[in-house]
Amino acid sequence: MSTSSLPLHASTTGSNPRRIAIIGGGPAGLIAAEYLSQQGHTVTLFDAMPSVGRKFLQAGKGGMNVTHSEPLADFVQRYGEAAPFMMPLLTQFGPEAVRAWAQGLGFDTFVGSSGRVFPSDMKAAPLLRAWLQRLREQGVTFQVRHRWQGWSTDNRLSFMTPMGEQLVESDACLLALGGASWPRLGTTGAWVAPLATRGIRINPLKPSNCGFEMAWSDHFRSRFAGTPLKSVVLTHVNGADEACSRQGECVVTEHGMEGSLLYPFTPALRDELERNGQARFYLDLLPGRDLDRVKRELSQPRGSKSMANHLRSRLGLEGVKAGLLRECLTAAEFSDNQRLATAIKALPVAVVATRPIEEAISSAGGVALAELDTQLMLTQLPGVFCAGEMLDWEAPTGGYLLTGCFSTGYQAARGIAAWLQSRP
Ligand SMILES: Cc1cc2nc3c(=O)[nH]c(=O)nc-3n(C[C@H](O)[C@H](O)[C@H](O)COP(=O)(O)OP(=O)(O)OC[C@H]3O[C@@H](n4cnc5c(N)ncnc54)[C@H](O)[C@@H]3O)c2cc1C
Repeated sequence: MSTSSLPLHASTTGSNPRRIAIIGGGPAGLIAAEYLSQQGHTVTLFDAMPSVGRKFLQAGKGGMNVTHSEPLADFVQRYGEAAPFMMPLLTQFGPEAVRAWAQGLGFDTFVGSSGRVFPSDMKAAPLLRAWLQRLREQGVTFQVRHRWQGWSTDNRLSFMTPMGEQLVESDACLLALGGASWPRLGTTGAWVAPLATRGIRINPLKPSNCGFEMAWSDHFRSRFAGTPLKSVVLTHVNGADEACSRQGECVVTEHGMEGSLLYPFTPALRDELERNGQARFYLDLLPGRDLDRVKRELSQPRGSKSMANHLRSRLGLEGVKAGLLRECLTAAEFSDNQRLATAIKALPVAVVATRPIEEAISSAGGVALAELDTQLMLTQLPGVFCAGEMLDWEAPTGGYLLTGCFSTGYQAARGIAAWLQSRP
């Protein structure tokens, strides 16, 4: 049997275990179930789907990235405006605790070259299996195919199940219902309506870590959709003229571009789109060469060679990079050496929209943080706690999402234990 490695606190139940309903079997709900069942409470975990942890499993398909190894002071900045909210939570249960938790389940982790932390086999399925087994051993009951739809008039939790509506009474409840991306994994965002009806402020759910749309020509789309764009530097300049740059890779898609290089820019590009109806970033297609060198190479005589051949032979620019230059520049700009050189180092790419939230890796928006006390209880609904991606924070990929879900789930669980203890 695996041993627990959640940061332990003395049992809060004494001889008075309470019934706790956790709704949502993602990482936030599961970690809360683990803490509270360890404390001796009677925990039932409900989920709308036939099995729990579907998004967690999906996250493991491309190499499960559970957290990041950078120092906490840098780590917390990835949560942007929500950093002050996240800091005390990450201090309680942060990147180190995530690694210790995986280790406690029998899974070593390692730090990849990017600083990201992975389980040694990179997979989510064995980790989830071991986790669920531990939860069952601790007495957690799972009720799947139970779709929470709000409260009954006498304040019980209402679930739609294959047997019709079921009403459940509990001493405290945790909502850990996820965001609204990848709805086929169970995260439909349908929880917004019952909470909004109760007067809880929900900030609109929006795509995060998503693809972006560009108005590609048919020619460019048909030639390059699906082609990776490797080792470029993306620069975004915000309304205050502050530039932010990152080097990395992305993929040209039928609709625009997506990939890890773009994801950290999601909030800035999305906000610019909302403000101006359009957004723009710049690509340096040759990060290894400075502008003077590019100008020098371009000014070499090209004889009867076409510009495409000149770009290839002097600068090694071909394929999708050359295609992008053609696509994003006018004919006059493309044939002017000075302007072409400038564009190679800072090609303006116009963004027309985000891809739909259904395709995004995560969502922004959700339960407004001001609705929560420090224990993550909804101040307007005593005894109802919230955690995970359904709260209004966002972060880039890189392990920050899962860590944020673990951290908020753990905090809400401690909050539930403390709240129950304070009540007769
Ligand atoms: C393709 C992909 C790759 C990812 N890769 C990574 C990664 O490598 N690293 C990382 O940190 N993050 C990654 N993420 C993000 C991460 O998986 C999520 O942020 C995380 O799973 C959210 O956890 P959660 O507990 O808040 O909610 P979820 O995991 O979304 O779980 C919510 C649960 O609530 C249930 N539910 C929803 N509504 C109801 C209802 N009304 N009644 C009952 N149950 C309901 C759902 O069925 C679901 O089981 C990835 C996401 C995707 C889509």
